[in-house]
Amino acid sequence: VKRVYAFGKDANGNNVTEGNTEMKAVLGGKGANLAEMANIGLPVPPGFTITCQTCMEFANGGNSWPEGALDTIAEYRADLEERMGKKIGDAEDPLLVSVRSGAPMSMPGMMDTVLNLGLNDESINGLIKQTENPRFAWDSYRRFIQMFSNVVMGLDGDLFENAITAMKNERGVKSDTDLTAEDLQQLVAEFKGIFSQNVDPVAYPSLVVDGLVQFPQDPTLQLQLAIEAVFGSWNNPRAVLYRQKNKIADDLGTAVNVQSMVFGNKGNTSATGVAFTRNPANGEKEFYGDYLVNAQGEDVVAGIRNTSPIAQLKTVEGLEEAGQQLEDIFVVLENHFRDMCDIEFTIEQGKLWMLQTRVGKRTAAAALHIAIEMVKEGLITKEEAVMRVEPDQLDQLLHPQFDKNATYDVVARGLNASPGAAVGEAVFSAADAVAANEAGRNCVLVRWETNPDDLAGMIAAEGILTSHGGKTSHAAVIARGMGAPCVCGVEALKIDAEAKEARISGTDIVIREGDIISIDGTTGIVVLGPVSLVMPEITGDLDAILEWADEFRTLGVRANADNPEDAELSRSFGAAGIGLCRTEHMFLGDRKQIIQTFILNEDETVREEAVRELLEVQTNDFYGMFKAMDGLPVIVRLLDPPLHEFLESARALDVEIARLEAAGTDAALVAEKRELMAKIDSFAEQNPMLGMRGVRLGIVYPILPTMQVRAIATAAARLKKEGLDPKPEIMIPLVSVVTELAKLRALAEKVIAQVEAEEGVELEIPIGTMIELPRAAVTADEIASVADFFSFGTNDLTQTTFGFSRDDVEGEFVPQYLSERLLPFNPFATVDAGVARLVQMGVELGHEGNPEIVCGVCGEHGGDPDSIATFNGIGLDYVSCSPYRVPVARLAAAQAAL
Ligand code: PEP
Ligand code: MG
Repeated sequence: VKRVYAFGKDANGNNVTEGNTEMKAVLGGKGANLAEMANIGLPVPPGFTITCQTCMEFANGGNSWPEGALDTIAEYRADLEERMGKKIGDAEDPLLVSVRSGAPMSMPGMMDTVLNLGLNDESINGLIKQTENPRFAWDSYRRFIQMFSNVVMGLDGDLFENAITAMKNERGVKSDTDLTAEDLQQLVAEFKGIFSQNVDPVAYPSLVVDGLVQFPQDPTLQLQLAIEAVFGSWNNPRAVLYRQKNKIADDLGTAVNVQSMVFGNKGNTSATGVAFTRNPANGEKEFYGDYLVNAQGEDVVAGIRNTSPIAQLKTVEGLEEAGQQLEDIFVVLENHFRDMCDIEFTIEQGKLWMLQTRVGKRTAAAALHIAIEMVKEGLITKEEAVMRVEPDQLDQLLHPQFDKNATYDVVARGLNASPGAAVGEAVFSAADAVAANEAGRNCVLVRWETNPDDLAGMIAAEGILTSHGGKTSHAAVIARGMGAPCVCGVEALKIDAEAKEARISGTDIVIREGDIISIDGTTGIVVLGPVSLVMPEITGDLDAILEWADEFRTLGVRANADNPEDAELSRSFGAAGIGLCRTEHMFLGDRKQIIQTFILNEDETVREEAVRELLEVQTNDFYGMFKAMDGLPVIVRLLDPPLHEFLESARALDVEIARLEAAGTDAALVAEKRELMAKIDSFAEQNPMLGMRGVRLGIVYPILPTMQVRAIATAAARLKKEGLDPKPEIMIPLVSVVTELAKLRALAEKVIAQVEAEEGVELEIPIGTMIELPRAAVTADEIASVADFFSFGTNDLTQTTFGFSRDDVEGEFVPQYLSERLLPFNPFATVDAGVARLVQMGVELGHEGNPEIVCGVCGEHGGDPDSIATFNGIGLDYVSCSPYRVPVARLAAAQAAL
């Protein structure tokens, strides 16, 4: 196996590079692109790259070197010294190298780097001689010891910073740059002392000389330890966490780049900088970036000194030529990589060196703009343009955000459950949210967790903040559906809803009702006080890319919506219909009273009256929905949740009774409350999600589906008479056996026929079912014989396939499963392979039972790009997702098809 690859030129100026940009899996991103830049003739400081596979072998072998690897590295080091005409550690003219990590996927700031390697008590003299600049040389040496101690040996960086501070105090100077060569030389001695005192001799026997740990003088040992440290940084906790968050595999490993150092801090004809070939914030075609004269790379990033804009570089005396060459290289790189690139460079005494390039990260707006411009420039095709935009990034464009220029203190962090930012008064109940909204005041609803009761408050609030629950909690799902910002699971938030306040644990901060708070659902940040918001610009670029996406995709995109506003919004985002209208969302507010009357009253006439009232309001609901979606299909799902969800909480009632009793309230009222509580208790189930819900409700209370179907048919008939083209479809939830569906289908057909007769209108209303139970998926051929369409409810299907409660998934074990990689990802966010197999089986069997059957997905997965790629491959006709995910799904569907 080849473990090491050279890049750059030899002593005669010939390119001896062995890799190229295609080899990222072997050389890492940085190594592959250094090789590529060298291959296309750009000035790259020579060096070599040790492969990612060597890193994995080293790690898997319990941090021991694979046979022969160190010998190969020694050969490549000797070759590099020959190419450079200098030796590492030389007392006359030393070669210094950097040792940098570079994984196949960009993991910014996650792993380690060592600069100025090769300095020791001998080579420092060579460096002084060559540069005639003792201050620079001693500063390089002290930086090396500091970096090596911190990065390679894991010593606390403060040990060294404190020594520098003490030295500055002693000298009476403020800045590091005020320290003289002599000061720095003394610091080097002090640093070596700190090293000896703090490194464990047992852990590093190779560093023990005369019974004492010594800073390693041997460059070979320095190099080996530095490479081992970079290898080790692949598995440091922050890198592991980063990979988990970004779905990057743990077995890729990192490459190590050993490269000749060039110095941007050798005077006023030296400089260093970072740049983008286009503006990464808005995509404009302009050189973008910063540089510092007479500085090292870290100084630019650290922001200690004020940088200058890159466009000025070529106007600086002594840097004109390098500045112009850099601009020419920007063009070369863009044409070569056919994408916007980001670049690190250094100018050493007038000579430009390229240290890194990669495809540059950009905002959503920039991604769109660059993709479109590059098609216009003939650099890329439309298909490539569509592939260039991250679907998840589009979310950024569709919601308000914190102003980038705003400053604020973060008081707590939680999960970024629903994107966008909100500012308003803290309120601690849905009723208070509604009241604030009615009084014209913006508010943020703060709850332990939300429940269906809170919906009115959630709608009234600008944003939702919860201390409990994860990204699939009620608050999160509903907020995403509404497009409302939501931060959930903020554990530090200790809410006392009764007292209308919340404390931030570990601090003395208290958020009281009426205090202005700001939340950012894109990042999960909570701020006490107002932060100014900006509505991101929605440019024509988004439209253009989505239109191209529509040309390429084969999967349809519909929306989950249950009110006319959301329906219209989703239509404007390009939804081809409503894939799921959850009618239970229409039973809140005043209507809850009516449904409670129905549930709790045994008197038939009272019940019938309640249902008549519901019929009237439901007819108007559907009228509005079908009108908003005129000409497009609207799948209305009959009532699904357990009835107790519409009732008061028994626990709250219990508390109320106790209070009434304590206050000596009259016995009759207490008795009445007790009776109500007994009634409510009678609806309680051990496992309500596996209980009286879905189609089962309709079987037990046929009066409910009768009413709903009548409302649907009547609304459609009215619109038809008005000359419109309503396209309702009726969906029966949670079916497990064909007989359930057959029974309700017969009921629905009978009601539709009655309405047709009464209204004198012909209606065509397809009737289908949700497939959200494993039994339904595996008997889909039977079920399809009485269904016009299937919609896969992958939320419940995931719940029932795994036997994981969808409401408790963020509790104890799933997070542990994820961190131990027992599961690759949260199956409620991205569809699991096993669940997908059930969906595929359902689609295939469904077509056996009914070749004409239309199949879609309406679970949360319908808006997830990874899941969309899966669905695209298993025969589905469309996905349905919340309105704000519609653009995301259109793009993801196109990418899945390309
Ligand atoms: C589902 O189960 O996937 C679904 C869409 O229905 P709900 O989320 O309303 O249960
Ligand atoms: Mg469901």
